[in-house]
Amino acid sequence: MRLGFDIDDTLINLREHAFHIYNKKLGQEIGLEVFNALTKVEIHEPFGMTAEEGSQMWKNSLEEVYYTNCPAFPGAVELLQELDRQGHEIFYITARFKEHGERTKKWLLEHGFPVHDERFFWGMKDHEKVNIIKQLHLDFYFDDKPEILKTLSKDAVKVYLKDQSYNRDVNMPRIVNWPEYQAFIKQLEK
Ligand SMILES: [Mg+2]
Repeated sequence: MRLGFDIDDTLINLREHAFHIYNKKLGQEIGLEVFNALTKVEIHEPFGMTAEEGSQMWKNSLEEVYYTNCPAFPGAVELLQELDRQGHEIFYITARFKEHGERTKKWLLEHGFPVHDERFFWGMKDHEKVNIIKQLHLDFYFDDKPEILKTLSKDAVKVYLKDQSYNRDVNMPRIVNWPEYQAFIKQLEK
């Protein structure tokens, strides 16, 4: 099978990692229950920031957010390793900016994700992901953003939403927790 994965907030818990970094940088201790109740992708509001301040904070924190010890979601690394061992083709499709491509690839490898150079795509806008996904003739594609999956819903690729607090109102097949290999394959066959 050909399986495509978004990275941030699909395979790795990037926003929560960033939330901890914001707390630390701003000397605050805002609890995870606040994070878990967010209905938007952006995380700045609980810190009392405007959209503009939030966007600046994100930019200023990006180096730390991307390249420190952001945890993968439980089971994600193990599942992708097993898919790779079983001969399935794993594609990564991330909207991280051009300048972050090579380092992101290296980071993924260092954290145990199986990456093949020719199956790693980055630097496109969210709404441009659809073109790459179509060209790759994927069987399955996984992302946390419903807007991206909706652009694909009429195509042959079967899409799954990675469950997040900001996408719970969307009715789509979803992955709540990354299952083990056998359970995952069973879920895809449904
Ligand atoms: Mg994402």
